Amino acid sequence: MRELLDRALGAYLGFAIGDALGATVEFMRPREIAHEYGVHREIIGGGWLKLARGQVTDDTTMSLALGEALLDGGALALLNHAKGDNTLTRSIGRAYVQWFKSKPVDCGNTCRRGILRFMHEGTLQGPPNPGDGGNGALMRNLPSVLATLGDDALFESLSMAQARLTHHHPLSDAATLGLGHLLRLLLGGADHGACQLWVAQWVLDNPSFRFTPYKGRATAYVVDTVQTVLHYLTLHDGFEEAMVATVNQGDDADTTGALVGMLAGARCGAARLPRRWLSRLRPDVVRDITDQTFGLLALSGSAGTTSSP
Ligand code: MN
Ligand code: MN
Repeated sequence: MRELLDRALGAYLGFAIGDALGATVEFMRPREIAHEYGVHREIIGGGWLKLARGQVTDDTTMSLALGEALLDGGALALLNHAKGDNTLTRSIGRAYVQWFKSKPVDCGNTCRRGILRFMHEGTLQGPPNPGDGGNGALMRNLPSVLATLGDDALFESLSMAQARLTHHHPLSDAATLGLGHLLRLLLGGADHGACQLWVAQWVLDNPSFRFTPYKGRATAYVVDTVQTVLHYLTLHDGFEEAMVATVNQGDDADTTGALVGMLAGARCGAARLPRRWLSRLRPDVVRDITDQTFGLLALSGSAGTTSSP
């Protein structure tokens, strides 16, 4: 249990580190980053959002909104969700609305469109839309994973429910489930070699995400995002090397950084996250993440899951 807690905390804190580090260079090209920073490797804020040092963006705050909705509902809401009841999905939708109304520093177009649709129509998903292939549903799914360890079916149905509130696209679905499964594997103690093997097989089964040769595109299109994340995650064993390489690829660097931070953080555990990055995160974010990690793991062990983690 202690090892699982360390890995789960590593994932959630690693996610926030990647968000805060990458946001500085979001939407920049690698050449522009090199010109301005050499190699970008410190959490300094700034960027197009003019962030304070250590501030995180929508990736982390939307994940926290999802985590809070799951914790508010507790074991009973998850149990009912497993039985097909959509009360929990509605609460998650309301949490996204509340998040949206809190004037977050940024909000992706597809997320905004989905949240407004839920607000005005109350529907839990829109029709399939070729324009919904962004990474917004994928980026915030970490709390669904932590809340459903040990129950594959519940993990998949909760992930899809939260994702479809804003994104209805087969590649968004596949990416959300794929990186979710990979996170579960790493939380279970898989090492770098096991991670590489799993990724190689997953890419064979999901050839849209094939990333060799790596094309160097790191946009918010979910295919580019996943290719970048898997490329650097499998290339570098260490958290810091993987993270620095990822964010210096630029473009949607806060989101690719957050996702690499999540996966590499689960792989190495919170105790091995670079101290200088961890200490730069805002204390309220670290506290919220820590509280949620304990709470979500506790949910995982209850809510009728088939085996405790
Ligand atoms: Mn962001
Ligand atoms: Mn982003």
